[in-house]
Amino acid sequence: MIEIPGLENYIAQFPVYEYRTISTDILYAEPRVRMVCKQECERYGTTWACPPGVGELEECERFFHTYPQGLFFSTVAEVRDVLDMEEMLGTRQAHEEITGQIADYMTQKDLDTFVLSTESCDICEQCTYPEKPCRFPEKMHPCLEGYGIVVPEIVEREQMEYMLGGNAVLWFSLILFRKKE
Ligand code: SF4
Repeated sequence: MIEIPGLENYIAQFPVYEYRTISTDILYAEPRVRMVCKQECERYGTTWACPPGVGELEECERFFHTYPQGLFFSTVAEVRDVLDMEEMLGTRQAHEEITGQIADYMTQKDLDTFVLSTESCDICEQCTYPEKPCRFPEKMHPCLEGYGIVVPEIVEREQMEYMLGGNAVLWFSLILFRKKE
């Protein structure tokens, strides 16, 4: 197992609800997850962070297995009304910023990282997809589901919470990591 020195202290400053270091051996790309993206998500095919822009499912699976481990975690946010989709989605950006900061910390600890996170990318007002390459490939976080990853399965396996109820929202990220060459 690769250690991440000081992670516990570093992470304590954020509203991280739970985290686990997992082996990517347990991960696989599930076609039905991507099918849900295609059939139910309006962002499908609109950014480089979503399928099909992230590549074929087999490629995605091969890619995430090039990292032996991942830091899987949730952050928690409070909303006034959990049924207010706009308010709920408004809390996503804070999760992405925390994810970016934790990934930067891991990079400083001599690790190569790749972030998979929530939904799709909205860094640019107008995404370049599909005409031109992504403007900020190092900043954008493709969504876990686009890579076929079944988030509830990891949550169950790791005995984590998927939903808290009340007015709390949980967001999930997976920071893949390996030692720098
Ligand atoms: S960073 Fe910009 S160009 Fe890249 S996926 Fe996000 S919105 Fe599109």
